[in-house]
Amino acid sequence: MVKTAATVENLVVIGSGPAGYTAALYAARANLNPLLITGFQRGGIPGGQLMTTTHVENFPGFPDGILGPDLMDRMKSQAVRWGTRLVEADVERLDLSQQPFQLQADGRTIHTQSVILATGASANRLHVDGEDTFWSHGISACAICDGATPQFRNEELAVVGGGDSACEEAVYLTKYGSKVHLIVRRDSLRASRAMADRVLANPLIEVHWKRQVGRFNGSDWLESIQLLDTDGKAAEVLPVRGLFYAIGHTPNTSLVEGQLPLDDKGYLITDPGQPATAIEGVFSAGDVADQQWRQAITAAASGCQAALAAERWLTHHDLAITIEREKVEPEAAELPQPTTTATEQDFDPEALWQGGSYALRRLYHESTKPLLVIYTSPSCGPCHVFKPQLKRVLNELDGAAQMVEINLEEDADIASQAGVTGTPTLQLFKDKALEQQWRGVQQRSAIKGAIEKLI
Ligand SMILES: Cc1cc2nc3c(=O)[nH]c(=O)nc-3n(C[C@H](O)[C@H](O)[C@H](O)COP(=O)(O)OP(=O)(O)OC[C@H]3O[C@@H](n4cnc5c(N)ncnc54)[C@H](O)[C@@H]3O)c2cc1C
Repeated sequence: MVKTAATVENLVVIGSGPAGYTAALYAARANLNPLLITGFQRGGIPGGQLMTTTHVENFPGFPDGILGPDLMDRMKSQAVRWGTRLVEADVERLDLSQQPFQLQADGRTIHTQSVILATGASANRLHVDGEDTFWSHGISACAICDGATPQFRNEELAVVGGGDSACEEAVYLTKYGSKVHLIVRRDSLRASRAMADRVLANPLIEVHWKRQVGRFNGSDWLESIQLLDTDGKAAEVLPVRGLFYAIGHTPNTSLVEGQLPLDDKGYLITDPGQPATAIEGVFSAGDVADQQWRQAITAAASGCQAALAAERWLTHHDLAITIEREKVEPEAAELPQPTTTATEQDFDPEALWQGGSYALRRLYHESTKPLLVIYTSPSCGPCHVFKPQLKRVLNELDGAAQMVEINLEEDADIASQAGVTGTPTLQLFKDKALEQQWRGVQQRSAIKGAIEKLI
């Protein structure tokens, strides 16, 4: 193996869940100057699976628990503070057939001596007829992200699945729905005892055993679902306005299919407890190689192992070009700040970004600039990803456009009037006319381009 010029990375970490950020943190502290490719849409979102959950109660160091997206913001800040460089994009192609390895991301080719695969897993879909019609119009893969939307308030809702995620989501949805149906394929729950007991003891949850989803009914929005029994015969019809999937995950290994050995479910195969894969210099971390434990702490721990293993391997082959950082920068970790809600007293007509219905009313009627309105909810992980992107766009446009953030929990009526069906939803107005609407995290360039056309 040859030591090459600095245009070849020492280490590229692919994925920004607990495994990826921990691996990058350790590699950065070892002066390896790691590049972390966060992912964007393929195989999840930046921050990984914890961006789709509320309280994480079992990650050590947070005795009162912490919101999943907040935990991931912290992991990201820590990795960046120690010198991790981030690329906010998906890896489109990875070629492990030659050393240095090659990958395509963000429209360029990156060469690297070593790779840590931390691409995690993605939520499964049912692929029942009509799923596409009602996707985001009643069907969601993330109760935690979408449960608070007005269309689900005081309505009957359903969750499909029988594991921990399904039970957690069913309990969570009782905060919003009038009743929650849990649709379980078998005659028992796969969830942990404690979680199953919480579901079975909850009077707002009805479990439908040995049932599967057969058909979706409705016009613009989901109105009911037809259940089938185990023989595929029509069973009960549930009058639900929302259906939430919690039917497991598929490991994100398509990048290495045909290059590395995978098990029958698609998980990467490594020696038990070891990060090294079948190709020297390629390591794995987290859920992508873990069918069994799949926890944030196990993913983080395996990220640490992978980074240490990569460092040893690079050193052993004399391949690393380390860097010296004189001081840690920024000195204190930078965390996203909550948006302040503008009142009559402190409303600023020139502010790039402010929150609340008062600011929306004023800017909608008075601003002559393009106006972005983002609908968020506190536990919406994708909103954590999207908001910094939008702030960058506004800063780049240097005051030519403005933005208002509406929190669905505080301003449900406004969201309802605006026809918002989930978070994040972004609307672009000019002179009171709705020019464009986006649902979910979008590329920065798409938003910037749409605004520039209106300036
Ligand atoms: C609803 C829910 C609740 C949970 N609650 C808990 C909990 O309370 N406690 C706990 O310990 N665990 C919990 N978990 C499990 C925990 O989230 C996972 O075990 C953990 O996130 C796995 O981390 P990871 O880094 O391996 O992968 P992930 O978190 O899945 O992250 C994978 C990353 O890889 C990126 N990626 C994928 N493909 C590509 C590509 N081609 N290019 C670039 N990047 C890519 C994705 O964008 C993502 O950033 C929960 C999971 C879910 C779904």
